[in-house]
Amino acid sequence: MTGTLYLAATPIGNLGDISPRFSETLSAVDFIAAEDTRVTLRLLNHLNIKKPLVSYYEHNRAASGEKILERLLAGESCALVTDAGMPAISDPGEDMVALCAKNGVPVTVIPGPCAAVCALALSGLPTGRFTFEGFLSTAPKARREHLSQLENEKRTMIFYEAPHKLQKTLKDMLDAFGDRKITLCRELTKMHEEVVRTTLSQAVERYGSEAPRGEFVLIIQGAEEKSEPACDIEDAVKVVNRYRDGGLSLKDAAKRASEETGFSKKALYDAALKQGE
Ligand code: SAM
Repeated sequence: MTGTLYLAATPIGNLGDISPRFSETLSAVDFIAAEDTRVTLRLLNHLNIKKPLVSYYEHNRAASGEKILERLLAGESCALVTDAGMPAISDPGEDMVALCAKNGVPVTVIPGPCAAVCALALSGLPTGRFTFEGFLSTAPKARREHLSQLENEKRTMIFYEAPHKLQKTLKDMLDAFGDRKITLCRELTKMHEEVVRTTLSQAVERYGSEAPRGEFVLIIQGAEEKSEPACDIEDAVKVVNRYRDGGLSLKDAAKRASEETGFSKKALYDAALKQGE
């Protein structure tokens, strides 16, 4: 009979969040597939569980996934864990689940912490509709495109970010979205857990002088419903040109005119550029 893949969520900083079912499952499976076997070994030692480990991470997921699948098809059961949180959410696991689904291998979940959901719940921002955006790319073009696609996103947005990239990310977000509410959730479930509910401009100021430490989830308010523009695009471009005549760059002029006319910054930027060709 085919074995089962158990997607088992690990704590995101507090070992007290390990559930009895997590321990029972890890004790019962034939083997564990881990993102970093050293990290998982520490967790197993804490739980006093001895179990064979195989490595399954970003750069070996194709080859390792096939080997895990073979063992599952041969009847063994496997728990898939990552270093912290829910497998398959900005972590390895997505491909393994797809591979199992394609080959008729049952997959089940041992739920536990997920930083994105914990932060959203703590944010104080609307939770009825939200979009998970994971990490922004570090490649400038992909990053710009990602942010610009979200300019008019009305749902609350969830991002993961590493501390050393936080300052740049906050500045880029302020540029792309304008000043909005943001909740920064740091070190969730750990001793220095901190939830800062502020605005993007204040966050840029705060983390410009204070080098951030720890792990962050950023929750950003969605775009507000815009009322119909009060004029047509030609008139709005005239407003852009007026600001440019006053000495502003095209980017800043489009931003100011956007606030005044209700057209998006990008639409005005492109229209003014086209007119100047
Ligand atoms: N799969 C994981 C989950 O379910 O949360 C996420 C893994 S992703 C590689 C790691 C990112 O999650 C970190 O860079 C940070 O943005 C966020 N994160 C993980 N633990 C966190 C914590 N304790 N507090 C705040 N953010 C955390």
